[in-house]
Amino acid sequence: MPDQSGGESLQALGEILGADGVLTDPAETAPFLTDHRRLYQGRALAVIFPRSVEHVSRVLAFCNERRIGVVPQGGNTGYCGGATPDESGNQVVVSLKRLNRIRSTDPLNYSLVAEAGCILAEVQRAADDAERFFPLSLGSEGTCQIGGNLSTNAGGTSVLRYGMMRDLVLGLEVVLADGRVLSSLTALRKDNTGYDIKSLFLGAEGTLGIITAASIKLFPKVRSSATAFASVPDVRSAVDLLARLRDASGDRVSSFELIPRIAVELTTRHIPGVTDPLAQPYSWYVLCELTSSRAADPLDSLIEEALTTALEDGLVLDAVLARSERDRIALWKLRETIPEAQRLDGASLKHDISIAVSALPRFVERASQWAHENVPDGRLVVYGHVGDGNLHFNLNQAPASERHAFLAREAPLKRAIHDLVREFGGSFSAEHGIGRLKVGELERYASTAELDLMRAVKRAFDPNGVLNPGKVLR
Ligand SMILES: Cc1cc2nc3c(=O)[nH]c(=O)nc-3n(C[C@H](O)[C@H](O)[C@H](O)COP(=O)(O)OP(=O)(O)OC[C@H]3O[C@@H](n4cnc5c(N)ncnc54)[C@H](O)[C@@H]3O)c2cc1C
Repeated sequence: MPDQSGGESLQALGEILGADGVLTDPAETAPFLTDHRRLYQGRALAVIFPRSVEHVSRVLAFCNERRIGVVPQGGNTGYCGGATPDESGNQVVVSLKRLNRIRSTDPLNYSLVAEAGCILAEVQRAADDAERFFPLSLGSEGTCQIGGNLSTNAGGTSVLRYGMMRDLVLGLEVVLADGRVLSSLTALRKDNTGYDIKSLFLGAEGTLGIITAASIKLFPKVRSSATAFASVPDVRSAVDLLARLRDASGDRVSSFELIPRIAVELTTRHIPGVTDPLAQPYSWYVLCELTSSRAADPLDSLIEEALTTALEDGLVLDAVLARSERDRIALWKLRETIPEAQRLDGASLKHDISIAVSALPRFVERASQWAHENVPDGRLVVYGHVGDGNLHFNLNQAPASERHAFLAREAPLKRAIHDLVREFGGSFSAEHGIGRLKVGELERYASTAELDLMRAVKRAFDPNGVLNPGKVLR
């Protein structure tokens, strides 16, 4: 039961949003109070569902005045607990799911304006309907929202060619902590008018404002593609193969994913319909895709030739090409369901790191050696967007090992991996952000100057500390 001031707040929120805009029933609020990985279980005064920018503005003005913490939530697929309220029961979760209109598309400007609550797959479809292409692509695209993608600066499988979410934004509409609306939904590719305020909201994980809409970049529609699944002797060969494919294809490689043998075993075991694409097992694989906007681009023969030469040179051991859209979907299903297969197989310890692509082979060697020596009850599941230098350096609990003993290795393992990342000049959070999970890591690895500036920005945007308290910065 909320106390008196909680009751008054609920009443005020009800007046702003209407009765169906405020949820307090524990059975109904439960899915909004825990994160995708079940790392955190929060409580909240209410989960609310604004339908308009004006709603968001009035809610923030009210919460700011009353010093009520506000936790924005998109599709709740984030990996760092950023969208989960704390345990106090005093915060309000603001779900953006009802703010879900595509406001406009401008094919000649190659741009589109979407509200924050649009599901990523719907934005991709809207671009396709306009004979254009929106390249952001993640395993969670059927659930995550564009507002969440903007706020985590999401990456995914096309970063190599198109960049991260930050690179795909032209303008934003954001509600500030005090309820003012920053309306900057421009469709401009050139705009050098002072500080680039919008970029501060990208990757800010809801700590500087609530994004309500975005003007995003579109690209020529993909009309031909070639997808291959190839086994490679080691990570070095994967990196060499990427450089060769970029050269040979006129830089039309849009995805290049590294997959270890264990990921093939886990997905074929746990995910219905996934099969091993090759006849015999190999230690490492890559899934690569070339794309073009030209309908008759001979990408299949191009990739086939490049892989044949790589096979002769020992960079590739075996390969299969997708001969149909069905084949292509099957290959991508193997890649996209690795996290789910990992989850179904038992406990896992995860690290989302990035290193210069050229340094990845040496990093994987050293980090794997440390893990083998120090985590005997773990099995390495190292995969990811190798074309961007981004690996998910994960360990799964070995069969017959004891779950708690395995999980107890988290702290020393994290320290060893992240220290090594620093030694290699890399990042301990490549695409998943900080949220609540990595606040301590940011404090440890960011410089004093960086932290001072981040805290100053936070104070300037949110002087009362009501926006997603405790996330990114303590
Ligand atoms: C199967 C699977 C695969 C994934 N693959 C990838 C991948 O390849 N690359 C990648 O980058 N991520 C990946 N993710 C992580 C996740 O999907 C992304 O981080 C995604 O961008 C989160 O979007 P969301 O709408 O679910 O945001 P949420 O989880 O709801 O929120 C994430 C953060 O953004 C804030 N936020 C949400 N909406 C707003 C808003 N409108 N205004 C201000 N703040 C807001 C929240 O407060 C929170 O801090 C994957 C997740 C899963 C489950």
